[in-house]
Amino acid sequence: ETYKEGLSKTRGSFSSKINDLVARYRKVDEDFFEDLEEILISADVGVTAVMDLIDELKMEVKRKNIKDSREMKEVISEKLVEIYYGEKDGDTAKLQLNEEGLSVILFVGVNGVGKTTTIGKMAHQLKQEGKKVIMAAGDTFRAGAIEQLEVWGERAGVDVIKHNAGSDPAAVVYDGIQAARSRGADVLLCDTAGRLQNKVNLMNELAKVKKVISREVPDGPQEVLLVLDATTGQNAMSQAKTFSEATDVSGIVLTKLDGTAKGGIVLAIRNELQIPVKYVGLGEKVTDLQTFDAHAFVYGLFA
Ligand code: GDP
Repeated sequence: ETYKEGLSKTRGSFSSKINDLVARYRKVDEDFFEDLEEILISADVGVTAVMDLIDELKMEVKRKNIKDSREMKEVISEKLVEIYYGEKDGDTAKLQLNEEGLSVILFVGVNGVGKTTTIGKMAHQLKQEGKKVIMAAGDTFRAGAIEQLEVWGERAGVDVIKHNAGSDPAAVVYDGIQAARSRGADVLLCDTAGRLQNKVNLMNELAKVKKVISREVPDGPQEVLLVLDATTGQNAMSQAKTFSEATDVSGIVLTKLDGTAKGGIVLAIRNELQIPVKYVGLGEKVTDLQTFDAHAFVYGLFA
């Protein structure tokens, strides 16, 4: 239900293709599977995941002696959910925040993916849940990033700790932690710069920021969320690989799912990188950030 609108592009393309497929083939034969494979790959489910899925489906068809292709929709949905969870069935999309004391969430990702927007949306949501939130404008590199975060801060009624453009992100985060402590905040949301052009710089900068957090906050950061743009498809996948090599990523936020017909990327990311998708962005409004639920997502595609 919650995904209905935001996923309309993927759903429209995916479910109509599956419906066509079922109409075209009454029997579940080799041709049926070949066409299905193409549909899944064109939805960016990912080649490895698709191969696994097709194998699984063929076994299931044998096991259950399925003859009629109309029965396949349900089986495909079930298997897509299984593909997402893999071995880690039931892992949680919930943020792992401290019950008491300060929790720090670090946001990483390249420019333009929707990092600042996501932080703003999350600030708003956490505040609605009754938490006291502070934001640290750690993207001191991208022009306008600090001001943009301040706009979200005003909108959400959340304080933003900032330094001048070009200053040291680790120092901003340090000040953010001190401010969060003295103001009794529950959650500090930290923006970071996303220059992927220079991988060594990026790694050093993230390491420095993380070191400050872990020194100041027990077991911090509580979450390192990698923000990826769903419309960039396989590019998002390669960013995920780079960032997970650079730092321990605890979860993914996949933005702009509303802008793509290739929502299958969610399944590919989880399946290939073993990192849970915790949130999805389904639009530009403050309410368009949703916790991710693989079951609701997959069944939403067929709705
Ligand atoms: P950053 O450089 O990673 O901080 O990216 P921004 O937060 O500035 O976002 C870049 C653009 O993407 C902005 O125009 C946002 O409004 C837009 N955006 C972010 N998330 C979403 C989303 O889930 N859906 C849509 N349609 N647009 C989004």
